[in-house]
Amino acid sequence: MAGQEGRETEIKQSEYKLEIKNVSFDYVDKKSKFEALSGIDLNVKQGEFICILGSSGCGKSTLLSLLSGLNKPKSGEILVDGKKIKGPGVDRAVVFQHYSLFPWLTVKGNVLFGIKQSGRKLGRKERSELAERYVESVGLSSAKDRYPSQLSGGMKQRVAVARALALESDILLLDEPFGAIDPRLRLELQELVSKLCTEHQKTVVFITHDVDEAILLADRIVVMEPGKIRSIHKVKFDHPRIREELSGTEEYEKLHRQLILAFYDRVGEQIDAGVAL
Ligand code: ADP
Ligand code: MG
Repeated sequence: MAGQEGRETEIKQSEYKLEIKNVSFDYVDKKSKFEALSGIDLNVKQGEFICILGSSGCGKSTLLSLLSGLNKPKSGEILVDGKKIKGPGVDRAVVFQHYSLFPWLTVKGNVLFGIKQSGRKLGRKERSELAERYVESVGLSSAKDRYPSQLSGGMKQRVAVARALALESDILLLDEPFGAIDPRLRLELQELVSKLCTEHQKTVVFITHDVDEAILLADRIVVMEPGKIRSIHKVKFDHPRIREELSGTEEYEKLHRQLILAFYDRVGEQIDAGVAL
């Protein structure tokens, strides 16, 4: 009997892909200590797309650095598939705001790097074909032999997305990946990421300070205030979402308004003034 109980415990899987449990983090130097995050709790289901929305300096990038494993929490823990993370891992791919491509590698070379990092046992030809498929999936086949210096900002971020996908990790972490890209291209990239993440069933944490971007992409939007989670909002629209079809609808405007109020911390003021949310 005891053995059976043991097995049951073994096969019991975590309900969540990603768990953030009471996580706090301080930046410490010789003279000072700054509490950047305090008591963060968040559970993310397999295949869920989470957007973290918050103004500059509220701790979004810090949270992503903890999820990626580049920094370690001061207290609390982060679990992937029920196991505590101990540092960076191939189960989590990261895309940063500032292009982090290898300048000495071509577009295809950068994507190949992701494939090699994934640790999959593939022959040279298979690797090359797979890299070309990922390059194609972000619409860059004709630029596959160019170097990063020969690409526009939008193209560089497409390569960063392709390289992250090529890692074939279940989890994708993106820190304001389109922050520096012009609005029209940004829309295209948002739709591309939404489509690819749905296709590949990724669990995604996507950081942004753009309310419309968050509504277009997320299943849930986590609004942060300095160091903390302020509120969490469900986004119930079906995927894939088309911006023109959503914006202007009553549901969209209501959610947009709620998020703006939460973002600027004006919920209390509006309720006091008798404004219906
Ligand atoms: P966000 O990404 O939301 O703009 P960050 O996570 O980058 O915010 O920063 C959160 C807070 O931590 C800010 O007040 C920032 O100044 C501070 N901070 C970020 N990095 C460091 C660091 N290396 N040393 C000290 N303070 C930092
Ligand atoms: Mg940041």
